[in-house]
Amino acid sequence: MTKRIYNFAAGPSTLPLPVLKQAQDEFLELPGAGASILEISHRSAAFEKIINGAESNLRKLLSIPENYKVLFIQGGASLQFSMIPMNLLRDSGKRADYIVTGAWGSKAVKESQKEGETRILWDGKDPGYRGVPDWQSLDVDKDTAYVHFTSNETIQGVQFQEMPETEATWVCDMSSDFISRPVPVDRFGLIYAGAQKNAGPAGATIVIIREDLLDRASKGLHTMLDYRTHAENRSLYNTPPAFSIYVINLVTEWILAEFGGLSEMAAGNEKKAALFYSAIDTSEGFYRGHADEYCRSRMNVTWRLKNEALESAFIEEAYRADLHELAGHRSVGGIRASIYNAMTLEGVHALVEFMETFREQNS
Ligand SMILES: *Cc1c(COP(=O)(O)O)cnc(C)c1O
Repeated sequence: MTKRIYNFAAGPSTLPLPVLKQAQDEFLELPGAGASILEISHRSAAFEKIINGAESNLRKLLSIPENYKVLFIQGGASLQFSMIPMNLLRDSGKRADYIVTGAWGSKAVKESQKEGETRILWDGKDPGYRGVPDWQSLDVDKDTAYVHFTSNETIQGVQFQEMPETEATWVCDMSSDFISRPVPVDRFGLIYAGAQKNAGPAGATIVIIREDLLDRASKGLHTMLDYRTHAENRSLYNTPPAFSIYVINLVTEWILAEFGGLSEMAAGNEKKAALFYSAIDTSEGFYRGHADEYCRSRMNVTWRLKNEALESAFIEEAYRADLHELAGHRSVGGIRASIYNAMTLEGVHALVEFMETFREQNS
């Protein structure tokens, strides 16, 4: 067998090894189906069991209340940038508010502007997306169509540590910290997350939507772009991304079996992130973290070195040590280590030790 490297990619990203092994074991004959998950009907009993399992595991992990639907939709989190304002802004007669703490939130705004009045309630662009607003300081209008934010900005490595408490129709892009920590779902109107950061492979986007939002949604939407279609057909209106949903089921089972729930998962994630931030903070300026301390991401750790040449050397040498995918996003440069749920403590130790050695050799 070839050797598996440590994969610090931001998405698609590393998956739990036991999940990959189980998928491998069951690849030719899915138990009870006698055929591969890639070959069976999405209307079969075997697939019904999988999609129900994925939904019920997510409900358990996040304590999703009964009055929320859990949907699996294609088109990535990026399609949600459009579906949200199409469904919830277009015919609302209201405005949508956006809190922009990084690149993804900024993309979401562009789609909303095509659908209706969009206000940027807070924008972290000027200092280069290093911070997040204090919830108390925001002028949140509870009567807007919704207020959108990104819980974790994957590219800049900026994460809200707290969820909003005030009343409003909160809509959150949780793509890159979904199921990494407990979240009070009942405070939200809608939560969405592309699977390929923390929940599985690309293909499915999980949408958790409160039922009264379905009633409010615009009329006359194209069938596939209308949340009601997916809710009324339990995500089986058309052919779903069966393999992605199958792996989401395995990943959520793995969290339940290994960690028991999201509190334990979050504690592990905090511990992993703390090792990086400590390596950065004790480096005497050799490594410089991008995000302000109070909102440092536990999923995507971003930092810079003195100059680009040194950053390239870091990335190349790390690669040779089997520590892969460490280049920051092309829009910001620097280094980014994505340490989602499935990144092991062993992988984190390997990279942190590499950081220390590299610093000694290059200071
Ligand atoms: C990756 C990512 C997206 C885009 O996801 P796609 O599924 O590729 O469309 C959106 N938001 C956040 C926070 C992300 O990390």
